[in-house]
Amino acid sequence: MPELPEVETVRRGLEPVLSGARLTRVRQNRPDLRFPFPDAFADRLEGATVLALNRRAKYLLFPLSTGETWVTHLGMTGRFTLDGEQLGEFEEPAPIAGKHEHVSLCAVRDSLTTRIGFADARRFGFMGLIPTDAVDDHPLFRGLGPEPLGNAFSGAHLAEAFADRKQTIKVSLLDQRNVAGLGNIYVCEALYRARISPLTAAGKISKPRLETLATVVRDVLSDAIEAGGSTLRDFANADGGQGYFQHRFDAYGREGQACLRAGCSGAIRRIVQGGRSTFYCSTCQKT
Ligand SMILES: [Zn+2]
Repeated sequence: MPELPEVETVRRGLEPVLSGARLTRVRQNRPDLRFPFPDAFADRLEGATVLALNRRAKYLLFPLSTGETWVTHLGMTGRFTLDGEQLGEFEEPAPIAGKHEHVSLCAVRDSLTTRIGFADARRFGFMGLIPTDAVDDHPLFRGLGPEPLGNAFSGAHLAEAFADRKQTIKVSLLDQRNVAGLGNIYVCEALYRARISPLTAAGKISKPRLETLATVVRDVLSDAIEAGGSTLRDFANADGGQGYFQHRFDAYGREGQACLRAGCSGAIRRIVQGGRSTFYCSTCQKT
């Protein structure tokens, strides 16, 4: 499942060719992905100009000159291609061409035309159109917490959201009402960096530690986006070789391996919380 950094990397990769571009030769090759496409989807994109490329949680939101916003979720295997090359790198390989290409279009900008494809082998993704002035009130976005990389996300916000909460900090950070788009991998990584036990009740964590937590949440996401951005640049020069999101994690996926923190002799453990794996060091993430 692409996490926020991968989605942000895709947004940044599409921006140079889609921002301000006019969409032409739009083709929709099947009636549905996870959900049906909207009625006359291709016709409603055809001729429209893309005004901006935004992201909210793990959704790509592209407001159009028609007053509608083109919404995309990558699901498990959703991939954009530019002139046939995959945009972004992912942990999970996915076929991108042929029968799996469900939408194709051309983006015309400064007399330069780029062919854009969207493939989704497992079809857990979706594309929709929402009136731009109704996006914030749409069921997908209404009630979402602040963006972890936005100004509204801070230690003070977490202190307010977590006041008196008995739920664990791990489960609370995955709750999209508290913070939007933060997935399992980056919650594990942030708690590890902040030296906070995933088992601690959210309401028991002091304000200074929540400040630290907010900072490291930004840091782990920014580091991953930076890594994705660099692989994205390399990708343009790569001769057809497909790499995948090769971000190194300090805790996630390292069950039984030595803790990487200097001076800690512990090992990474895996437990299950709320149906999801948690990786942490019980030696240096005590409280
Ligand atoms: Zn440790």
